[in-house]
Amino acid sequence: MNNKALLVSLTLILLTYLPPLSAAPIRVKSIHWKGGSPPRLLIDFSALPVYRISRSADAGRLTIEVNDAAPMTSLIQPPAAHPAAARIGSLPGKAANSLRLLVELKISAAPKYRIEKLPEGARLVVEWPPAGPEAPKPAPTAKPKPARAFVVAIDAGHGGKDTGAIGPTGVLEKDVVLAIARKLAGLIRAEPGMRPVLVRSGDHFVDLRHRLEVARKSRADLFVSLHADAYVTGDVRGSSVFTLSEHGASSEAARWLADSENAALLGGVKLKDKGKMLASVLVDLSKNATLEASDKAAFKVLRELRRNFQIHHQEVQKAGFVVLKSLDVPSMLVETAFISNPVEERNLTNPKHQDQLARAVFNGICAYRAETRPNTPLDVRMAEAEKN
Ligand SMILES: [Zn+2]
Repeated sequence: MNNKALLVSLTLILLTYLPPLSAAPIRVKSIHWKGGSPPRLLIDFSALPVYRISRSADAGRLTIEVNDAAPMTSLIQPPAAHPAAARIGSLPGKAANSLRLLVELKISAAPKYRIEKLPEGARLVVEWPPAGPEAPKPAPTAKPKPARAFVVAIDAGHGGKDTGAIGPTGVLEKDVVLAIARKLAGLIRAEPGMRPVLVRSGDHFVDLRHRLEVARKSRADLFVSLHADAYVTGDVRGSSVFTLSEHGASSEAARWLADSENAALLGGVKLKDKGKMLASVLVDLSKNATLEASDKAAFKVLRELRRNFQIHHQEVQKAGFVVLKSLDVPSMLVETAFISNPVEERNLTNPKHQDQLARAVFNGICAYRAETRPNTPLDVRMAEAEKN
Protein backbone atom coordinates (compact mmCIF):
# COMPACT_ATOMS: atom_id res chain seq x y z
CA MET A 1 0.00 0.00 0.00
CA ASN A 2 1.43 3.41 -0.80
CA ASN A 3 1.61 6.32 1.65
CA LYS A 4 -1.51 7.99 0.45
CA ALA A 5 -3.57 4.81 0.41
CA LEU A 6 -2.34 3.99 3.89
CA LEU A 7 -3.22 7.42 5.22
CA VAL A 8 -6.62 7.37 3.56
CA SER A 9 -7.41 3.94 4.91
CA LEU A 10 -6.21 4.94 8.39
CA THR A 11 -8.39 7.99 8.23
CA LEU A 12 -11.34 5.89 7.14
CA ILE A 13 -10.76 3.55 10.04
CA LEU A 14 -10.55 6.60 12.29
CA LEU A 15 -13.81 7.89 10.89
CA THR A 16 -15.57 4.64 11.58
CA TYR A 17 -14.38 4.87 15.18
CA LEU A 18 -15.92 8.25 15.77
CA PRO A 19 -18.93 8.10 18.05
CA PRO A 20 -22.18 9.10 16.36
CA LEU A 21 -22.80 12.84 16.43
CA SER A 22 -26.08 14.64 16.71
CA ALA A 23 -25.14 16.83 13.76
CA ALA A 24 -22.86 16.11 10.83
CA PRO A 25 -19.30 17.23 11.54
CA ILE A 26 -18.04 20.35 9.85
CA ARG A 27 -15.90 19.67 6.80
CA VAL A 28 -13.05 21.73 5.46
CA LYS A 29 -14.20 22.06 1.87
CA SER A 30 -11.15 23.76 0.46
CA ILE A 31 -7.99 25.63 1.31
CA HIS A 32 -6.71 28.53 -0.80
CA TRP A 33 -3.39 30.30 -0.54
CA LYS A 34 -3.14 33.87 -1.79
CA GLY A 35 0.31 35.36 -2.22
CA GLY A 36 -0.76 38.98 -2.88
CA SER A 37 -0.60 41.90 -0.51
CA PRO A 38 -1.54 41.08 2.14
CA PRO A 39 -0.82 37.36 1.82
CA ARG A 40 -3.81 35.29 2.87
CA LEU A 41 -4.97 31.84 3.79
CA LEU A 42 -8.64 31.04 3.07
CA ILE A 43 -10.30 28.01 4.57
CA ASP A 44 -13.81 27.19 3.38
CA PHE A 45 -15.98 25.21 5.79
CA SER A 46 -19.25 23.40 5.14
CA ALA A 47 -20.88 25.35 7.98
CA LEU A 48 -20.07 28.11 10.44
CA PRO A 49 -17.21 26.69 12.50
CA VAL A 50 -16.55 27.01 16.21
CA TYR A 51 -12.81 27.57 16.22
CA ARG A 52 -9.88 28.87 18.20
CA ILE A 53 -6.65 30.32 16.80
CA SER A 54 -3.41 30.53 18.69
CA ARG A 55 0.21 31.26 17.91
CA SER A 56 3.19 29.42 19.37
CA ALA A 57 5.43 31.39 21.74
CA ASP A 58 8.16 31.73 19.10
CA ALA A 59 5.53 32.93 16.56
CA GLY A 60 6.65 30.09 14.26
CA ARG A 61 3.34 28.26 14.18
CA LEU A 62 -0.34 29.06 13.94
CA THR A 63 -2.79 26.55 15.36
CA ILE A 64 -6.43 26.56 14.24
CA GLU A 65 -8.58 24.25 16.31
CA VAL A 66 -12.06 23.54 14.95
CA ASN A 67 -14.74 21.86 17.04
CA ASP A 68 -16.84 18.98 15.71
CA ALA A 69 -14.83 18.74 12.53
CA ALA A 70 -14.15 15.81 10.26
CA PRO A 71 -10.52 14.68 9.96
CA MET A 72 -8.73 15.70 6.77
CA THR A 73 -7.39 13.25 4.24
CA SER A 74 -5.34 15.67 2.20
CA LEU A 75 -4.18 19.25 2.49
CA ILE A 76 -3.21 21.79 -0.12
CA GLN A 77 0.26 23.00 0.79
CA PRO A 78 1.16 26.68 0.34
CA PRO A 79 3.16 27.43 -2.83
CA ALA A 80 6.89 27.84 -2.14
CA ALA A 81 6.57 31.56 -2.92
CA HIS A 82 3.87 32.21 -0.30
CA PRO A 83 5.29 35.07 1.79
CA ALA A 84 3.82 34.01 5.13
CA ALA A 85 3.28 30.24 5.32
CA ALA A 86 5.68 27.36 4.75
CA ARG A 87 3.52 24.30 5.40
CA ILE A 88 0.23 23.11 6.74
CA GLY A 89 -0.49 19.90 8.61
CA SER A 90 -3.49 18.46 10.41
CA LEU A 91 -3.98 16.46 13.56
CA PRO A 92 -6.95 15.40 15.63
CA GLY A 93 -7.52 18.27 18.10
CA LYS A 94 -7.40 18.25 21.89
CA ALA A 95 -11.14 18.02 22.34
CA ALA A 96 -13.04 14.96 21.11
CA ASN A 97 -13.98 15.19 17.40
CA SER A 98 -12.05 18.39 16.94
CA LEU A 99 -9.56 19.07 14.18
CA ARG A 100 -6.32 20.92 14.51
CA LEU A 101 -4.65 22.64 11.56
CA LEU A 102 -1.04 23.62 12.08
CA VAL A 103 0.46 26.28 9.85
CA GLU A 104 4.22 26.63 9.88
CA LEU A 105 5.06 30.32 9.43
CA LYS A 106 7.88 32.07 7.63
CA ILE A 107 7.27 35.46 9.24
CA SER A 108 6.59 36.57 12.79
CA ALA A 109 4.01 39.27 11.97
CA ALA A 110 0.74 38.70 13.87
CA PRO A 111 -2.00 37.61 11.47
CA LYS A 112 -5.59 38.96 11.51
CA TYR A 113 -8.60 36.68 11.16
CA ARG A 114 -12.24 36.99 10.33
CA ILE A 115 -15.10 34.73 9.36
CA GLU A 116 -17.13 35.44 6.22
CA LYS A 117 -20.46 33.80 5.56
CA LEU A 118 -20.75 32.04 2.22
CA PRO A 119 -23.98 30.95 0.46
CA GLU A 120 -23.05 27.44 1.56
CA GLY A 121 -20.91 27.42 4.66
CA ALA A 122 -18.35 29.91 5.85
CA ARG A 123 -14.84 31.10 5.09
CA LEU A 124 -12.09 31.73 7.59
CA VAL A 125 -9.78 34.45 6.30
CA VAL A 126 -6.31 34.67 7.81
CA GLU A 127 -4.20 37.54 6.56
CA TRP A 128 -0.81 38.90 7.35
CA PRO A 129 -0.80 42.71 7.16
CA PRO A 130 2.44 44.25 5.92
CA ALA A 131 4.72 45.26 8.78
CA GLY A 132 4.48 49.08 8.82
CA PRO A 133 6.74 51.55 10.63
CA GLU A 134 4.17 51.58 13.44
CA ALA A 135 4.58 47.85 13.97
CA PRO A 136 4.92 47.31 17.70
CA LYS A 137 8.47 46.58 18.74
CA PRO A 138 9.08 43.65 21.05
CA ALA A 139 9.39 44.62 24.68
CA PRO A 140 13.03 45.49 25.41
CA THR A 141 13.06 43.09 28.35
CA ALA A 142 12.07 40.11 26.21
CA LYS A 143 15.34 38.61 25.05
CA PRO A 144 15.02 36.66 21.82
CA LYS A 145 15.36 32.94 22.41
CA PRO A 146 18.54 31.69 20.75
CA ALA A 147 17.57 29.69 17.68
CA ARG A 148 17.84 25.98 18.12
CA ALA A 149 20.93 24.54 16.44
CA PHE A 150 20.51 22.32 13.40
CA VAL A 151 21.79 19.00 14.71
CA VAL A 152 23.44 16.49 12.37
CA ALA A 153 24.02 12.98 13.69
CA ILE A 154 27.05 11.55 11.88
CA ASP A 155 27.24 7.79 11.88
CA ALA A 156 30.62 6.33 10.92
CA GLY A 157 29.68 2.81 9.77
CA HIS A 158 30.90 -0.32 11.56
CA GLY A 159 33.58 -0.07 14.30
CA GLY A 160 35.29 -2.28 16.86
CA LYS A 161 34.96 -5.97 16.09
CA ASP A 162 32.97 -5.05 12.95
CA THR A 163 35.67 -3.90 10.52
CA GLY A 164 33.27 -3.37 7.62
CA ALA A 165 34.72 -4.01 4.18
CA ILE A 166 38.45 -4.55 3.69
CA GLY A 167 40.36 -3.06 0.75
CA PRO A 168 42.85 -4.95 -1.46
CA THR A 169 45.81 -3.74 0.62
CA GLY A 170 44.03 -4.24 3.93
CA VAL A 171 42.55 -0.78 4.55
CA LEU A 172 39.53 -1.11 6.85
CA GLU A 173 36.23 0.58 6.07
CA LYS A 174 35.63 1.34 9.77
CA ASP A 175 38.82 3.45 9.89
CA VAL A 176 38.36 5.53 6.76
CA VAL A 177 34.70 6.31 7.44
CA LEU A 178 35.58 7.41 10.97
CA ALA A 179 38.21 9.76 9.55
CA ILE A 180 35.66 11.24 7.12
CA ALA A 181 33.04 11.46 9.89
CA ARG A 182 35.43 13.46 12.08
CA LYS A 183 36.20 15.85 9.25
CA LEU A 184 32.50 16.29 8.54
CA ALA A 185 31.90 16.95 12.24
CA GLY A 186 34.64 19.61 12.16
CA LEU A 187 32.99 21.41 9.26
CA ILE A 188 29.59 21.32 10.95
CA ARG A 189 31.01 22.49 14.26
CA ALA A 190 32.56 25.50 12.55
CA GLU A 191 29.24 26.49 10.97
CA PRO A 192 27.13 28.91 13.05
CA GLY A 193 23.79 27.42 14.04
CA MET A 194 24.86 23.85 13.38
CA ARG A 195 25.97 21.13 15.77
CA PRO A 196 27.42 17.69 15.01
CA VAL A 197 26.79 14.57 17.07
CA LEU A 198 29.16 11.68 16.35
CA VAL A 199 27.40 8.34 16.82
CA ARG A 200 30.82 6.82 17.47
CA SER A 201 33.89 8.94 18.07
CA GLY A 202 36.33 6.05 18.37
CA ASP A 203 36.94 2.53 17.19
CA HIS A 204 34.17 0.72 19.01
CA PHE A 205 31.27 -1.47 18.10
CA VAL A 206 27.84 0.16 18.07
CA ASP A 207 24.64 -1.83 17.65
CA LEU A 208 22.62 -0.72 14.60
CA ARG A 209 19.48 0.10 16.60
CA HIS A 210 21.58 2.05 19.09
CA ARG A 211 22.79 4.27 16.23
CA LEU A 212 19.18 5.36 15.64
CA GLU A 213 18.72 5.96 19.35
CA VAL A 214 21.70 8.33 19.46
CA ALA A 215 20.21 10.37 16.62
CA ARG A 216 16.76 10.50 18.18
CA LYS A 217 17.98 11.25 21.70
CA SER A 218 20.05 14.16 20.41
CA ARG A 219 16.94 15.33 18.52
CA ALA A 220 18.90 15.33 15.30
CA ASP A 221 17.52 17.20 12.31
CA LEU A 222 19.39 14.86 10.01
CA PHE A 223 21.16 11.51 10.29
CA VAL A 224 24.01 10.70 7.90
CA SER A 225 25.60 7.25 7.89
CA LEU A 226 28.99 7.00 6.17
CA HIS A 227 30.26 3.85 4.49
CA ALA A 228 32.80 2.64 1.92
CA ASP A 229 31.71 -0.85 1.03
CA ALA A 230 33.19 -3.52 -1.20
CA TYR A 231 32.07 -5.24 -4.35
CA VAL A 232 33.08 -8.66 -5.63
CA THR A 233 35.01 -7.16 -8.52
CA GLY A 234 37.62 -4.49 -7.98
CA ASP A 235 36.72 -2.33 -10.95
CA VAL A 236 33.43 -1.00 -9.58
CA ARG A 237 33.77 2.51 -8.19
CA GLY A 238 31.90 5.70 -7.34
CA SER A 239 29.67 7.16 -4.63
CA SER A 240 26.00 6.38 -3.94
CA VAL A 241 23.39 7.79 -1.58
CA PHE A 242 20.56 5.74 -0.05
CA THR A 243 17.35 6.55 1.76
CA LEU A 244 14.80 4.26 3.37
CA SER A 245 12.52 2.32 1.03
CA GLU A 246 8.74 2.56 1.37
CA HIS A 247 8.68 -1.11 2.33
CA GLY A 248 11.31 -0.57 5.00
CA ALA A 249 9.39 2.44 6.34
CA SER A 250 6.04 0.62 6.45
CA SER A 251 7.46 -2.38 8.26
CA GLU A 252 9.12 -0.03 10.73
CA ALA A 253 5.83 1.83 11.26
CA ALA A 254 4.16 -1.49 12.03
CA ARG A 255 6.96 -2.32 14.45
CA TRP A 256 6.50 1.02 16.23
CA LEU A 257 2.78 0.56 16.57
CA ALA A 258 3.25 -2.96 17.88
CA ASP A 259 5.67 -1.46 20.37
CA SER A 260 3.52 1.56 21.22
CA GLU A 261 2.33 -0.13 24.41
CA ASN A 262 5.87 0.04 25.71
CA ALA A 263 8.05 3.08 25.48
CA ALA A 264 7.88 4.03 21.83
CA LEU A 265 8.31 7.75 21.36
CA LEU A 266 7.52 9.70 18.26
CA GLY A 267 9.24 13.08 18.11
CA GLY A 268 9.19 13.11 21.91
CA VAL A 269 5.54 12.05 22.20
CA LYS A 270 4.52 8.88 24.03
CA LEU A 271 2.39 6.78 21.72
CA LYS A 272 1.31 4.75 24.71
CA ASP A 273 -1.39 7.17 25.84
CA LYS A 274 -2.77 7.63 22.34
CA GLY A 275 -5.53 5.46 21.04
CA LYS A 276 -4.40 2.87 18.52
CA MET A 277 -5.93 4.77 15.61
CA LEU A 278 -4.50 8.14 16.58
CA ALA A 279 -1.11 6.53 17.13
CA SER A 280 -1.14 5.05 13.65
CA VAL A 281 -2.17 8.36 12.08
CA LEU A 282 0.63 10.13 13.96
CA VAL A 283 3.20 7.51 12.96
CA ASP A 284 2.08 7.72 9.36
CA LEU A 285 2.23 11.52 9.27
CA SER A 286 5.71 11.46 10.73
CA LYS A 287 6.86 8.67 8.41
CA ASN A 288 5.72 10.50 5.28
CA ALA A 289 7.23 13.83 6.31
CA THR A 290 10.49 12.12 7.24
CA LEU A 291 10.76 10.13 4.00
CA GLU A 292 10.14 13.27 2.00
CA ALA A 293 12.77 15.23 3.92
CA SER A 294 15.25 12.34 3.64
CA ASP A 295 14.93 12.28 -0.14
CA LYS A 296 15.32 16.03 -0.33
CA ALA A 297 18.50 15.95 1.75
CA ALA A 298 19.91 12.89 -0.04
CA PHE A 299 19.35 14.50 -3.42
CA LYS A 300 21.36 17.55 -2.34
CA VAL A 301 24.24 15.45 -1.02
CA LEU A 302 24.34 13.35 -4.19
CA ARG A 303 24.37 16.52 -6.29
CA GLU A 304 27.34 17.88 -4.33
CA LEU A 305 29.24 14.58 -4.58
CA ARG A 306 28.68 14.58 -8.34
CA ARG A 307 30.59 17.86 -8.67
CA ASN A 308 33.91 16.27 -7.71
CA PHE A 309 33.53 12.52 -7.63
CA GLN A 310 32.53 9.66 -9.83
CA ILE A 311 28.99 8.54 -9.01
CA HIS A 312 28.03 4.87 -8.99
CA HIS A 313 24.22 5.21 -8.85
CA GLN A 314 23.02 8.40 -10.51
CA GLU A 315 19.78 8.57 -8.51
CA VAL A 316 19.14 8.33 -4.79
CA GLN A 317 18.79 4.61 -4.06
CA LYS A 318 16.15 3.01 -1.86
CA ALA A 319 17.05 0.37 0.68
CA GLY A 320 15.79 -1.15 3.92
CA PHE A 321 18.99 -0.56 5.94
CA VAL A 322 18.27 -0.60 9.66
CA VAL A 323 20.18 2.62 10.32
CA LEU A 324 17.79 4.50 8.04
CA LYS A 325 14.71 3.45 9.99
CA SER A 326 14.11 6.46 12.25
CA LEU A 327 10.60 7.55 11.33
CA ASP A 328 11.11 10.98 12.90
CA VAL A 329 14.67 11.84 11.80
CA PRO A 330 15.38 12.35 8.09
CA SER A 331 18.16 9.87 7.32
CA MET A 332 20.55 8.90 4.54
CA LEU A 333 23.39 6.49 4.00
CA VAL A 334 26.33 7.65 1.89
CA GLU A 335 28.54 5.07 0.22
CA THR A 336 31.50 7.38 -0.21
CA ALA A 337 33.38 4.98 -2.51
CA PHE A 338 34.17 1.29 -3.07
CA ILE A 339 37.05 0.29 -0.84
CA SER A 340 37.39 -2.81 -3.03
CA ASN A 341 38.61 -0.64 -5.90
CA PRO A 342 42.42 -0.16 -5.58
CA VAL A 343 42.26 3.50 -6.68
CA GLU A 344 39.41 4.35 -4.34
CA GLU A 345 41.04 2.44 -1.50
CA ARG A 346 44.12 4.65 -1.87
CA ASN A 347 41.98 7.80 -2.16
CA LEU A 348 40.01 6.88 0.94
CA THR A 349 43.19 6.93 3.04
CA ASN A 350 44.30 10.28 1.62
CA PRO A 351 43.45 13.06 4.11
CA LYS A 352 42.96 15.57 1.31
CA HIS A 353 40.51 13.27 -0.46
CA GLN A 354 38.74 12.64 2.86
CA ASP A 355 38.45 16.42 3.28
CA GLN A 356 36.85 16.74 -0.14
CA LEU A 357 34.38 13.96 0.54
CA ALA A 358 33.44 15.50 3.89
CA ARG A 359 33.11 18.91 2.25
CA ALA A 360 30.78 17.58 -0.45
CA VAL A 361 28.50 15.92 2.13
CA PHE A 362 28.63 19.09 4.22
CA ASN A 363 27.68 21.29 1.27
CA GLY A 364 24.72 19.01 0.54
CA ILE A 365 23.60 19.20 4.17
CA CYS A 366 23.85 23.01 4.10
CA ALA A 367 21.81 23.19 0.89
CA TYR A 368 19.12 21.05 2.54
CA ARG A 369 19.20 23.11 5.71
CA ALA A 370 18.80 26.33 3.72
CA GLU A 371 15.56 24.97 2.27
CA THR A 372 14.14 23.77 5.54
CA ARG A 373 13.18 26.11 8.31
CA PRO A 374 16.19 26.47 10.60
CA ASN A 375 14.03 25.04 13.27
CA THR A 376 12.31 21.87 14.35
CA PRO A 377 10.94 19.60 11.61
CA LEU A 378 7.20 19.61 11.06
CA ASP A 379 6.58 16.24 12.63
CA VAL A 380 8.38 17.28 15.82
CA ARG A 381 6.38 20.51 15.89
CA MET A 382 3.22 18.50 15.49
CA ALA A 383 4.29 16.29 18.33
CA GLU A 384 4.99 19.36 20.44
CA ALA A 385 1.58 20.77 19.59
CA GLU A 386 0.10 17.46 20.64
CA LYS A 387 1.88 17.76 24.00
CA ASN A 388 0.57 21.27 24.78
ZN1 LIG B 1 29.67 -0.36 5.33
